[in-house]
Amino acid sequence: MRTKDDVLEEVKKQDIQFIRIEFLDYAGVTRGRTIRASQLKSAFEQGVNFSTAIMSFDMFDEYIPDPTFGPDDGDFFAVPDPTTFAIIPYRSHTARMLCDLVDVDGNPWPGCPRQVLKRLLNEVEVVLGGTLNMAFEQEAYLLKEVGGKLLPADQSHCFSTDGVDIQDDFIQDFVSTLETMNVTTEQISSEYGPGQLEINLKYTNALKAADDQVTFMHVFKQLARNKGMIGTLMPKPFQHLAGSGLHVHMSLFNEEGENLFADVTDKRDLDLSKTAYQFIGGLLTHGTSLVAIGAPSINSYKRMQPGSWAPAHICYGMGNRSVLIRVVDKRRTRRFEYRGADGTCNPYLLAASLIAAGLQGIQHRIDPGDPAHFDVGHASECQLKEKNIHSIPRNLNDAINSLEQDAVLAQVIGPTIWKELIKIKRTEWDKYLRHVSDWELGAFSEKF
Ligand code: GLU
Ligand code: MG
Ligand code: MG
Repeated sequence: MRTKDDVLEEVKKQDIQFIRIEFLDYAGVTRGRTIRASQLKSAFEQGVNFSTAIMSFDMFDEYIPDPTFGPDDGDFFAVPDPTTFAIIPYRSHTARMLCDLVDVDGNPWPGCPRQVLKRLLNEVEVVLGGTLNMAFEQEAYLLKEVGGKLLPADQSHCFSTDGVDIQDDFIQDFVSTLETMNVTTEQISSEYGPGQLEINLKYTNALKAADDQVTFMHVFKQLARNKGMIGTLMPKPFQHLAGSGLHVHMSLFNEEGENLFADVTDKRDLDLSKTAYQFIGGLLTHGTSLVAIGAPSINSYKRMQPGSWAPAHICYGMGNRSVLIRVVDKRRTRRFEYRGADGTCNPYLLAASLIAAGLQGIQHRIDPGDPAHFDVGHASECQLKEKNIHSIPRNLNDAINSLEQDAVLAQVIGPTIWKELIKIKRTEWDKYLRHVSDWELGAFSEKF
């Protein structure tokens, strides 16, 4: 684990002249400043100041109506975490660090998503006596611009070796850049959509996993740009092609290396422990509001359509890709993946909310009911009703309304972030509602 002194020494040794001080806002945008190496010591001691008002911007960089933070609300301070220090190999003499945000007195600023996650992870250790590991699995498209239109960068088939060959140059560059930045990848696949890739990060404790995902989000886009492409994590770039999800695998191990989610005596035959079932029970109970955190954009809900391999219903099952929580097959380490998120989320808030919901499940001993063993996306209304399986909210507005009713998540995220996140997302929804699309013009203009 790198300390501040290690970083100061490394900066000197490697002749690093610029250091990016980064954090992620509620709209999912990485923001920050670049400081000169001479400022690093003071950044560690005092942090780097930012107006709190920048947390009231939406993804279009517009100041939202009725913001919590005004120009008169002072600053927060971004304090770099030395353990996240990484030299950016594609920039000259430049490194970056991810930050915790503190207030003017040096206390955790209540608007800091990374500290929300840290708080939750401490709770996991106390309540469950283990470390919650996560592995993020991001799908993303490589696009190219042809005649002013954005198209998939290649026509590769699903899981084809051609697909990875065509993009080999990009993939090699991406994987080795991440490696240099201390982010370990495990598998690379050509996904279902043409030009779509899936790159799996190695599981690690949930804080590092979220930090790694932030690195992934930025580096993927930048390296694609360097190669004349557009790399996008947008959940549904094309109506007729597969969407891009962000699946989050979760496992729980104690200090002795024992998997607390595993139990071979499981009567439901998924080899899961009671703790695992209750954790899943919590995820399902908070299912409608969790998607507001994991899938927080208007485009997110175009991905989660029945029959698309993206979840559209709140249920779980083993080896079943039509459900919200897929328990991996028994040949693999006992764990499950949450499939309701995408690359427009804030990974710290996502990880924290998943853990909070899981902990609720354990504290209230919530039984998730029986797993779904059928293709939920193609099930009839009658079948779903009989099994008591509900839909995921069909749009961002419904998801945000559900989050607004969820006192547990509100308390965990804290009123500062919760209120602003809801306002930012309502602003996005309002802008979308006023937008007249080409599809509408085509459908209505001649007939009416
Ligand atoms: N692309 C699907 C999604 O949007 C997932 C496909 C898969 O299971 O890998 O979640
Ligand atoms: Mg996939
Ligand atoms: Mg997956």
